[in-house]
Amino acid sequence: MKNLELIFIPAPGAGHLISTLEFAVSLLNHDDRISITILAIKSPFPDTLHSLVNSMVSSHPRMTLINLPYVEPPPRELITSIEYFVTLYIDSYISHVQQAVGEILSDRSKPGGGSSSSVAGVVIDLFCVSMIDVAKEFGLPSYIYVTSNAGFLGLMLELPVRHDQIQREFRSSDPELLLPGFVKPVPLSTLPSALFDAEHGGYSTYVRIARGFREADGLIVNTFAELEPFDFGSLSNSRQTPLRVYNVGPVLSLKSLPTLAHPASDLVKWDEIWEWLDHQPSSSVVFLCFGSAGTFGEDQARQIATALERCRKSFLWSLRLRSSEKNDVGLEMVLPDGFLERTRGRGFVCGWAPQADILAHGAIGGFVSHCGWNSITESLWNGVPIATWPKYAEQQLNAYRMVKELGLSVELKLDYRDVAPQAVTADEIEAAINRLMDDDGGVRKKVETMRDLGRAAVKEGGSSFNSIGRFIEDLAG
Ligand code: UDP
Repeated sequence: MKNLELIFIPAPGAGHLISTLEFAVSLLNHDDRISITILAIKSPFPDTLHSLVNSMVSSHPRMTLINLPYVEPPPRELITSIEYFVTLYIDSYISHVQQAVGEILSDRSKPGGGSSSSVAGVVIDLFCVSMIDVAKEFGLPSYIYVTSNAGFLGLMLELPVRHDQIQREFRSSDPELLLPGFVKPVPLSTLPSALFDAEHGGYSTYVRIARGFREADGLIVNTFAELEPFDFGSLSNSRQTPLRVYNVGPVLSLKSLPTLAHPASDLVKWDEIWEWLDHQPSSSVVFLCFGSAGTFGEDQARQIATALERCRKSFLWSLRLRSSEKNDVGLEMVLPDGFLERTRGRGFVCGWAPQADILAHGAIGGFVSHCGWNSITESLWNGVPIATWPKYAEQQLNAYRMVKELGLSVELKLDYRDVAPQAVTADEIEAAINRLMDDDGGVRKKVETMRDLGRAAVKEGGSSFNSIGRFIEDLAG
């Protein structure tokens, strides 16, 4: 096989960017005839990952980074639908991507110059579906790297089918939805909020992205066959040929993301926390962390604190308050009177947490999580069971799947949303933490089995390892 070069177009934003780069690294590790050029779209928000990306790229000799020029983001009023905002922003990069791909192809075709590899395709984030047409223009196949799971893929494959029949957004009175890859019909309360939003472009953006899933030449998913065994090959793409789906997970970063600048992060001493964790009994500490955008209002923070105090478990709680000023004045002002004093020695409250490292620590016995797919993947990798508390995006669907379909998590909430008017009560939180830590009905055992299956899937001969091999063979034609 000749050397093959892939052009990657990740979306900016921690959860998507790092996972996509980690997949790129697993391709490089799989086959030394692969090389990868990353076209980096600048983040429309303050960028804290720049140095991490640079260091990932510079530590892989067959990886090259091209930073695309700055483009003015759309007006912030459009953030009423984050999906719409992000795709609109990425669309504004089309001409830069055209230029960069054109230059790469002309460079590689120079006789005696360029390189010995041929460009075999473009791997894009799901928010970059507009780049499928750019790839076509240059006669290149395109592959979507799905940073989420096969359950989410089932939703995306069903959406255009439903839209062609019904032609409108979801309404709460609609019947439950039967999705490919799910055993039972899915309650509408667990679908992403954007699907109910016709007004701000959330629904139409989802349908547009979902159509891209059938337009692309293949779908690469961060899951593994033993976790989500559904065969999507029985469905077809827009060319009426069987969908090509490659399960390549678990793809994850084993090292924590760097601390995102956040005032609350400075309030704790991590040396002290690691030292404390090292002295806790195995699987005795509950860790609470809610993703890169997981903030809470003050009332909700107090309910969590009350639950932690009552359940008497050791805890490590990554808390970021919705109003950032409060993090500056000190958590004492917000948490119940004397909470930090009374729980001293039994728990810590911190801001941004080095989550991947924490989940790998043997003292952690349970994880109260917002159910972002990276967090679920990190948790499964370490055999730590989750109590589900979804907040935004596709997290409710992830929570439903983990609890109801896969039996791999304990239910705290399945359909909670960030905009919920009512706080989740201390009673509900306490009960879920107790179930998670004391009596999970066998969930821990199942999670430990899935940890072993996941680790085996990416080893030589494992299901995901073989799937990466198939992807490379298909690229080579
Ligand atoms: N993360 C972290 N510390 C935090 C919050 C999040 O290291 O305090 C990391 C977490 O380990 C994961 C990523 O940020 O790798 C979050 O991705 P996920 O898909 O779970 O959720 P998102 O942030 O995209 O909602």
